[in-house]
Amino acid sequence: MTETEHPQPTADIALASSGLSKQIVSRDGHTISRKQISENALKVLYRLNRSGYQAYLVGGGVRDILLGLAPKDFDVVTNATPEEIKKLFRNCRLVGRRFRLAHIVFGRDVIEVATFRGHHEEANDKISKANATGRLLRDNVYGNIDEDAERRDFTVNALYYNIADYSIHSYGGGIDDLERGQLKLIGDPQKRYREDPVRMLRAVRFATKLSMTIDKAAAEPIPALAHLLSDIPAARMYEEVLKLFFSGQAKATYQMMQEYGLFTPLFPLLDSQLKECPKGAANKMVQLVMANTDTRISEEKSVTPAFFYAALLWYPLAQRGDDIALESGLPKYDAYFAAMGDVIEDQCRTISIPRRFTAPARDIWQMQLRFDRSLNTRAFKLMENPKFRAAYDLLLLRGAAEGGQVAKTATWWQQFVDSDEEQRLQLAKSGQREGSGGGRSRNQRRRKKPRKPQAEAE
Ligand code: ATP
Ligand code: MG
Repeated sequence: MTETEHPQPTADIALASSGLSKQIVSRDGHTISRKQISENALKVLYRLNRSGYQAYLVGGGVRDILLGLAPKDFDVVTNATPEEIKKLFRNCRLVGRRFRLAHIVFGRDVIEVATFRGHHEEANDKISKANATGRLLRDNVYGNIDEDAERRDFTVNALYYNIADYSIHSYGGGIDDLERGQLKLIGDPQKRYREDPVRMLRAVRFATKLSMTIDKAAAEPIPALAHLLSDIPAARMYEEVLKLFFSGQAKATYQMMQEYGLFTPLFPLLDSQLKECPKGAANKMVQLVMANTDTRISEEKSVTPAFFYAALLWYPLAQRGDDIALESGLPKYDAYFAAMGDVIEDQCRTISIPRRFTAPARDIWQMQLRFDRSLNTRAFKLMENPKFRAAYDLLLLRGAAEGGQVAKTATWWQQFVDSDEEQRLQLAKSGQREGSGGGRSRNQRRRKKPRKPQAEAE
């Protein structure tokens, strides 16, 4: 790879290779100040710059500061190669196969430093490779900033803040699109989505998170190409799905994903149940989970994938559990236990949920089966379970989603949880007298549990 220097343009120019326009906005023409950039990102930018390399802040960091938002992370791009970056920073780790990147590690904070990407058309298989549908499997051709801009997804993400003179380099009208709230893909949308179908999810994520509109040319091909998402490695999807639903706009994101057909390839099992019964409890549950996640994030409460997936997949689990019980004659508890393995295995084919989250999700599910059998003194024991709070939250959602007996059980528990110790005892005793049913015989309770199917990731 040779580093190609390009003349510094002073006004708008059209790049020969793509026609992508470039605009340089000097320090006094924009609102980004160094105060808004993290100390660690600045350290990295300055070290690169003082060592004679070009160094820019790029992507979400620039975009979000210009929108008046606090960036989630800061990404740096440079003409130094990963090996050259490694020589400059002791705290540097080289990562990635598809994209080779440097991570500069400051405790828990990681600054991602990428080398400018070039055109992969002319490259050989070793450094750039696509599969039969056009998806890029490897992409390590280095280039200059202009070429790098063409490889970015949206124009609003092709904004570069230059640490050398504090100017912003905006490509394809990114800075104007940001002002107009337009998400425009760089290049031919069909080709860009085929190269990386995750860009379709990113379109929806940015549209909802940043209140922007996906421009017509970028929106049009999505429904026909949405199925390409099933081709993406499940491990990558796990991170993407978290970003989609844990950014504070889960409800709007879900809605938009359904409109574009993007939910189906990610959640095939759940989605077929949703389509089978559009007014059913599963549909209500999805709405409730999304709204609940948004509320928690707006109240700065924690959210966990364990609860999110347990709640989202409760009705597919219940359906599978009931089917198994019917087919095999197993008691409900055992049938559901077997169904848990099936449902997790199925979901992990598209989104590989780490075991550290599927294990507590199973606990949350198992506790659902114990709630209606514990409307008595057993309730005290149940409350001591470390997963009680999450399981109870799911019970409340189920009550709201399906009403009936579950809603009654949820109300009893709500009363119990909200009472003081003495009132709890009263409630438990009155439950005992009524012999609140559903409990299993001693024999059943002693029955050995079937072994867990080992389906989860990690
Ligand atoms: P956020 O960090 O808020 O999720 P972001 O735009 O910074 O948004 P990152 O995933 O951090 O997203 O990526 C940083 C930049 O890298 C993006 O702004 C974009 O320029 C580029 N980029 C990321 N993913 C892709 C992709 N799939 N295709 C093309 N460019 C991408
Ligand atoms: Mg980012």
